[in-house]
Amino acid sequence: KKKIAIMTSGGDSPGMNAVVRACVRMSLYLGCQPFAVYEGYEGLVQGGDFIKKMEWHDVRGWLSEGGTLIGTARCMAFYERPGRLTAAKNMILNGIDALIICGGDGSLTGADKFRAEWPSLVEELVATGQLTAEQVKPYTHLNIVGLVGSIDNDLSGTDATIGCYSALARICEMVDYIEATASSHSRAFVIEVMGRHCGWLALMAGVATGADFIFIPEKPREDNWKDEMTSVIEKHRKLGKRKTIVIVAEGAQDRHGAKITPNMLKDLLADKNGLALDTRITTLGHVQRGGTAVAYDRMLGTLQGVEAVKAVLEATPDTETCVIAITENQIVRKPLMKAVQDTKEVAKAIDAQEFDRAMDLRDTE
Ligand code: ATP
Repeated sequence: KKKIAIMTSGGDSPGMNAVVRACVRMSLYLGCQPFAVYEGYEGLVQGGDFIKKMEWHDVRGWLSEGGTLIGTARCMAFYERPGRLTAAKNMILNGIDALIICGGDGSLTGADKFRAEWPSLVEELVATGQLTAEQVKPYTHLNIVGLVGSIDNDLSGTDATIGCYSALARICEMVDYIEATASSHSRAFVIEVMGRHCGWLALMAGVATGADFIFIPEKPREDNWKDEMTSVIEKHRKLGKRKTIVIVAEGAQDRHGAKITPNMLKDLLADKNGLALDTRITTLGHVQRGGTAVAYDRMLGTLQGVEAVKAVLEATPDTETCVIAITENQIVRKPLMKAVQDTKEVAKAIDAQEFDRAMDLRDTE
């Protein structure tokens, strides 16, 4: 029986449980034995109870649960070869040579490295007497498939990462709540949302809530940004708007790379010699990550989980490691490292013109 391990790694995201459920059940359906690796790479390195056989009923009810029920962690040991050597040993001891990982680009990079190193890790396990040649014989290659679990929608090559629509829905809901009280008191709110490198959440939340102004890492602000923001908001206020919403991504910056912080924005909005607005800051923090997955993320996690099991079974030593993506509504396989590389080189393409057009739909007359 082919043994397939499933793991969640890096930051958690809503929809990861749908992935694990789909992978477990699809593996069983295809006659394989699934395993869950608890606590991300930490579980692979620790072995023992961290690697658990899964049955059909083990994942019952998981679709409607938020976070990841098999845990996730950052694992320093896995960055180093000795950590990966132990991980390889634990896998072989459990008879596993197929691994499905749901995580961010860091987790997927680690996975690709692990796969490339696998033959030499196996050799070292034999050379150092940790395993016998007989024990390692069936495990000459490791097959890996990646799934992108991230609330940031920060991987190039896929339209949506698992979790991003849940986080976006939550942000919009929170902004709606804030708007009611902002209007009542005629206040301004600076709302900080997640996104250190990728501003998708802030941008789409801005579009979806009709925010007055937004700041994202991909659009570093020109030197005159303070005047620009002040004049837009002044205009909105003159048109009778009783609330002001500014959404700022964690990684917002100006064109010199200097961070634009919620406090800077608050000071500007509250400036007695300027807009003089009663201004509050709301940092949404982990409510964006937590909670249950929206229908889209459950669907994406399930369909991609099914595809991941098929892909890991079809993988050969000669095929490139793949990541499961969604493009134009199709679930597809893409070369994993190209997606990671593209993500680093071109921050997920946000068309500047589209950005301006979307924001121009605010109250302008
Ligand atoms: P997020 O997008 O939420 O940050 P991520 O998967 O990018 O998710 P990381 O913290 O970068 O999160 O990676 C998770 C774990 O994957 C790390 O703690 C480490 O164990 C492993 N890992 C990441 N990068 C590498 C690498 N280059 N080599 C080996 N292991 C890695």
